[in-house]
Amino acid sequence: MHDRDGKIWMDGEMVDWRDAKIHVLSHTLHYGCGAFEGVRAYKTAQGTAIFRLREHTERLFNSAKILRMKIPFTQEQVSAAQCAVVRENGLESGYIRPLTWIGSEKLGVSPRGNTIHLMVAAWTWGAYLGEEGLRRGIRVKTSSYTRHHVNITMTQAKAVSNYTNSILANMEAVDEGYDEALLLDPSGFVSEGAGENLFIVKNGVIYTPDLSAGALNGITRNTIFHIARDLGMEIVQKRITRDEVYICDEAFFTGTAAEVTPIRELDRIELGIGSRGPITEKIQSAFFDIVNGRNPKYAEWLTPV
Ligand code: PMP
Repeated sequence: MHDRDGKIWMDGEMVDWRDAKIHVLSHTLHYGCGAFEGVRAYKTAQGTAIFRLREHTERLFNSAKILRMKIPFTQEQVSAAQCAVVRENGLESGYIRPLTWIGSEKLGVSPRGNTIHLMVAAWTWGAYLGEEGLRRGIRVKTSSYTRHHVNITMTQAKAVSNYTNSILANMEAVDEGYDEALLLDPSGFVSEGAGENLFIVKNGVIYTPDLSAGALNGITRNTIFHIARDLGMEIVQKRITRDEVYICDEAFFTGTAAEVTPIRELDRIELGIGSRGPITEKIQSAFFDIVNGRNPKYAEWLTPV
C-alpha cells in the first residue's frame, strides 16, 4: 500500500505517496486515540464527484470533538483537500480516507501538549465485500465479540480504537469461512456489522437497530432512509434480536465501503429466499442511481472534484 506513485495530503501539503510518513512514537500509534472517515468518489455523467462530502467531513469533526481533539483545519479546508487528492491522483472513482491523529512530541496516556495532524489519501477500491456479494448476498456470522457499550468507547465517533473490536470480529468470521461478522450489543441485541449498518425487511417493513445499540450513525444508513421514503416504504428503528434476523424476509448491510450488500445467510441459517431479495434489489438499484448521479433529486449530495 505504501509503495506506489501518487500524492497524499498531509497537514496542508501534497506529499509524494512514498514520503507520507509519521514517527514511530506518534501518540495515536501507541494508544489508539484518533479518528477517520471513509468516503467514496463516483464517476458520474458530469464527471467525478464525492458522495455526501459535507456529511463525512462533519462526522470527522464530530468524531474529533468527541475525542477532545482539535483539528487544526476548517471543514472547508478538509473538504477541499479530499477533492484535491482525488484530482491529483487522477481517480475517476475511488475511496477517500481522511485520518486525524495525535503527534509524537511526548508519550504517556495524556496527549496534552501534542500536536494534532490530518491526512487525506485516496485510491481505487471496488466492491468491499466483492462484486458477487453485491449480486448474490454474503454469508455472515454472529460474532463471539460484543459491540462496544455506548459508555466505554464512544460509539458515535469513528475512532481508530473502536476498530480493534471490528477487526477481531471480522477475522473470527473470515477464519471460520464467512464473509463478515454481525455484532450484538452488551445486552444481546443486534448492533451492526464490523464495518456496516444492518437492515432487515419483514412483511414489507424495513427495520434497523436504533443507535442506542452502539451502531455508528452511518451516512449510507441515512441515505437508505431517503430511498425508502421515495419508495413509499416505512423504516422502523428499534431493538432487534438475532432470531428476528433469522426469520426476516431480507437483510442487507450498508456502508460507504460495503455500499448496499445483501445478506443471504446468518450463522448458516438461510435468510428469506437465500439470495438478494426484491426490496433489497430495489434499494440497491436506487442507491447506485443516486451515487452515480442518475437521480437529479439528490444532485446536491455529489460534489464535483
Ligand atoms: N458501522 C461501522 C462500524 C463502520 O465502520 C461503518 C463504515 N463507516 C458503518 C457502520 C457505515 O457507515 P457509513 O455508511 O457512514 O460508511
